[in-house]
Amino acid sequence: MSNDNVTRNDRLTGEPGLISDALDTAKRTVSSLVNSVDADAVYDEGHDIADTKAPQVPIDKRWDERKFTAKLVNPANRRKLSVIIVGTGLAGASAAATLGEAGYHVKSFCYQDSPRRAHSIAAQGGINAAKNYRNDGDSVYRLFYDTVKGGDFRARESNVYRLAQTSVQIIDQCVAQGVPFAREYGGLLDNRSFGGVQVSRTFYARGQTGQQLLIGAYQALERQIAAKTVEMNTRHEMLELVVVDGKARGVVVRDMVTGEIETHFADAVVLATGGYGNVFFLSTNAMGCNVTATWRAHRKGAYFANPCYTQIHPTCIPVSGEYQSKLTLMSESLRNDGRIWVPKSGEDSRAAPDVPEDDRDYYLERIYPAFGNLVPRDIASRAAKNVCDEGRGVGPGGLGVYLDFADAISRLGRPAVEAKYGNLFDMYAQITGENPYETPMRIYPAVHYTMGGLWVDYDLESSIPGLYVTGEANFSDHGANRLGASALMQGLADGYFVLPNTINDYLAAGPFPKVDAAHPAAVEAVEAVRTRIDKLLSVNGTRTVDSFHKELGHIMWDYCGMERTEEGLRKAIGRIRELKTEFWSDVKVLGTNESLNQALERAGRVADFFELGELMCIDALVRRESCGGHFRAESQTEDGEALRHDDEYAYVSAWEYGGEDGKPILHKEPLVYEYVEMKQRSYK
Ligand SMILES: Cc1cc2nc3c(=O)[nH]c(=O)nc-3n(C[C@H](O)[C@H](O)[C@H](O)COP(=O)(O)OP(=O)(O)OC[C@H]3O[C@@H](n4cnc5c(N)ncnc54)[C@H](O)[C@@H]3O)c2cc1C
Repeated sequence: MSNDNVTRNDRLTGEPGLISDALDTAKRTVSSLVNSVDADAVYDEGHDIADTKAPQVPIDKRWDERKFTAKLVNPANRRKLSVIIVGTGLAGASAAATLGEAGYHVKSFCYQDSPRRAHSIAAQGGINAAKNYRNDGDSVYRLFYDTVKGGDFRARESNVYRLAQTSVQIIDQCVAQGVPFAREYGGLLDNRSFGGVQVSRTFYARGQTGQQLLIGAYQALERQIAAKTVEMNTRHEMLELVVVDGKARGVVVRDMVTGEIETHFADAVVLATGGYGNVFFLSTNAMGCNVTATWRAHRKGAYFANPCYTQIHPTCIPVSGEYQSKLTLMSESLRNDGRIWVPKSGEDSRAAPDVPEDDRDYYLERIYPAFGNLVPRDIASRAAKNVCDEGRGVGPGGLGVYLDFADAISRLGRPAVEAKYGNLFDMYAQITGENPYETPMRIYPAVHYTMGGLWVDYDLESSIPGLYVTGEANFSDHGANRLGASALMQGLADGYFVLPNTINDYLAAGPFPKVDAAHPAAVEAVEAVRTRIDKLLSVNGTRTVDSFHKELGHIMWDYCGMERTEEGLRKAIGRIRELKTEFWSDVKVLGTNESLNQALERAGRVADFFELGELMCIDALVRRESCGGHFRAESQTEDGEALRHDDEYAYVSAWEYGGEDGKPILHKEPLVYEYVEMKQRSYK
């Protein structure tokens, strides 16, 4: 396929203007897309799959039952067993600390210079738990119900129920570690509300909840490092999974400082490598977040589930210019007290404080009176997009809505608002130069979280035996839309409580036969890594990695972002394929492998983003319904809400890698709802 509208020379100018030229190119390219693929020709149907690990007992007994039936490993034998854990965010650090404490030999990896720099540190708003401290009607069942409904009935009931059950233990664990959660005057832990719920169950540490939780997990991890049960490998990037006799047995990593390629082996491998929102180039994720670890595992046989389910967060600082490489979240907690509005008229050019009440449209409170500003993220994001599409958006380009604290400040006083949200307000002021205590914040939706990830069963085991996946890297608990403050809950539930109880069942059969670097599977994996690195360095083309990434991001945002259509997705798949080919023939990666080389690191990640981006579009194309964050324009209710088609699409899409030249294969895991009635979501 070729795109006649853009010649190679248009794009290939001198170094300084490379990125901006590429961006212009991206815009031209995207607006003039002519190539598209035939919808049914892009994938093959496979057999249905099922989770076989959740016990067939009433839902409130399942987790206890599984813990009881899962085999144990006696403490003396644990010392003979090893586990590789890639990732030291909340999901990985908590798992490594807990398995180390249990006595297993753990090898932990991350690409940052300290485990404490994992992206989890950025989490601001809070972590949910069904403690019912407020006595406002909360319960394990209600957290379960809210999460299944919030995910638009596309999550697995068993997993979500266990998440709600485990949530209460997480808070106790973290308090015991000394995590400084906010407290009320009487000393009890304080709570606030997040979107999609009518109770207050979100525990928080000002606007730094992720940081404080990660410090808790990190100190537990450091304790095990000192005790020598955990061997920490920072600045090591996993680039391949080693599969021996069908089982995950090791990883190939690159020492990011020396470029050395190393192999590491263990009895089981855990990926806790986070989400892939950066496929969109601009997102609220840390710059380093990427899909490489899970994508490499996918290519080795791990099914990738629901890749198209992306969360677009409604309250981010709007894009300010073409040279921006990162977006900033303003925590959802702000919707507890901030009111969202736009002028009633698109012609209204007055400054926000000068717009009288009667001329304001508090559209969330108007459309969704029951939940108001605290509707779930997918709904708030779409509503913001709609008012901006109507021409009523505010700020540069009309791509913004107001988040206004004037009422809260007059009701509670500025010191109270400052105590709750002070660091978020400071951050906003530093980035925008505006004072949010005096004029409303301007916000707009941005890519934030990915509900999709590697498919796992109830034990968190992927379709490759011995490969476990935790935290944002798996698909398990949030369906088509994650509720706020549920990611930290899931990461810590997985790492502190679920995995340490389920992985025993697998390890009880170990230690498995010894594998070393001479094993053909390891040799092949190392060879694949070296070949790829050599290839990236030898293209010696004319475009930077970032320019390709940016162009891919534009395609993803325009066609697989907040709204998706059949036609757009077909075009996007065609264009991504073209761009991928261009990447491999025209990318310029400076430097060598034998030293710190960030261009090389990014090149490998972007190469994987191309393949993932294509699968995301295929998944979105095949799912001809709207659910949660996946909004297909062709499938909406009369008042513009997401319209599911439960008769056809009540399943998890689990994609099998189809080979370099083959098509991905779709396996469906049917979703059965026994404890929550599936119905059209309503927050009105
Ligand atoms: C700005 C922001 C605010 C948020 N606020 C909240 C909130 O208030 N509440 C909430 O519940 N959720 C929040 N979230 C979501 C939440 O922070 C994340 O979903 C969660 O922290 C992910 O944790 P994780 O452990 O799964 O992955 P991460 O924290 O992303 O950690 C990934 C780890 O994997 C490692 N890694 C990845 N790939 C490789 C590789 N190839 N080789 C070696 N190591 C690798 C990294 O080095 C890192 O250690 C927020 C997200 C953002 C972006």
